[in-house]
Amino acid sequence: MADQKRDYYEVLGVAKDASQDEIKKAYRKLAMKYHPDRNPGDKEAADKFKEASEAYEILGNAEKRERYDRFGHAGNQFGPGGFDFGRDFSGASEFADILGSLFGGGLGSFFGHGARQRDPNGPERGSDVEIEMGITLEEAIFGGSRDIEIALGEDCPDCHGTGAAKGAKREKCKQCGGRGVVVAGGGFIQFQQTCPICHGEGTIITNPCRTCHGTGRVKKRRSINVKIPRGVDSGNRMRLAGLGNAGLRGGENGNLMVVFNVAEHPIFEREGNNLACEIHVPLNIAALGGTVSIPTPDGEAQFKIPAGTANGKVFRYRGKGITSLHGDVGDMLVRVLVEVPEGLSSSQKKALQAFADSCKDGNYPEMRDFAKKSENFLKMREALLKK
Ligand SMILES: [Zn+2]
Ligand SMILES: [Zn+2]
Repeated sequence: MADQKRDYYEVLGVAKDASQDEIKKAYRKLAMKYHPDRNPGDKEAADKFKEASEAYEILGNAEKRERYDRFGHAGNQFGPGGFDFGRDFSGASEFADILGSLFGGGLGSFFGHGARQRDPNGPERGSDVEIEMGITLEEAIFGGSRDIEIALGEDCPDCHGTGAAKGAKREKCKQCGGRGVVVAGGGFIQFQQTCPICHGEGTIITNPCRTCHGTGRVKKRRSINVKIPRGVDSGNRMRLAGLGNAGLRGGENGNLMVVFNVAEHPIFEREGNNLACEIHVPLNIAALGGTVSIPTPDGEAQFKIPAGTANGKVFRYRGKGITSLHGDVGDMLVRVLVEVPEGLSSSQKKALQAFADSCKDGNYPEMRDFAKKSENFLKMREALLKK
């Protein structure tokens, strides 16, 4: 790389206020021009390609771009010796999208992973498997463990992963002559692509194995024990290394990704780490105050209701919510609702009536307030209708 890093905007030849689309286009153009597949053995082109890719890695990402705008090259930390190429390109990033569509298999070979010509008889890593797992709120709060059954791919027992029928051999691909790549495009723009017939393997199966239909793998049901971590929430993903599809022909296994989905609960609603619930209390408790018991993650708790609690009032109990995966503890939000008594006996009715008769204006300030306001309304009505 150059001793002095050039400005990324300058590298891509775009204005400082260029849109993401313009940046993408500019990068595409440079990548086409300097891609190593198009400039074999040209060190300068390779450097230019790296420089443009580095600039795009930053400017093509809104967050990194903002950091770069504010702090310059220091804003995005690179490993020693500058840009860590192999690492940053290993994911299925947008680079792969852009370059993949342009150059087929060329990108992998340039960055040093994924040989252009795959060995059809060599080991192959199993793919990752993602499953959604529905759990109860109790399991989300307290953790748990479940046995699940899933069908996972593994080596076909009949062909041992080769995909070819017994006795049959793979034959050289006629499309690419066994090279695994073909030249695409025409005129000035010519580049190598992974062979679409053999997918880069250089050989094809003319007599496929009947058990696996030539794919080399079969599905087998497996029972897996999944430990549910305490505090997990809907959408949280957990990676179980090596429990995905089995690797082919001795390759590494893929991973199992478990995505949790917490079911609704009959009394609690979860809001982040907080738990919310509604409790019903009798009129006398709302008026006189009292204690009710509520369930919490710490067990049953006695919850004090102050005298004169209005219907619908929400109380917050700090630290009585859910303990998150990271150890933060949420609160319990309790909404108090006054329950109107039902099925009163005649003596209860009498008692309630006696109580009502004893009430004064001051016992119900809201009602008194409303009565005043409605009186005003009716007075104004009279006055205005007279005119
Ligand atoms: Zn087979
Ligand atoms: Zn081929």
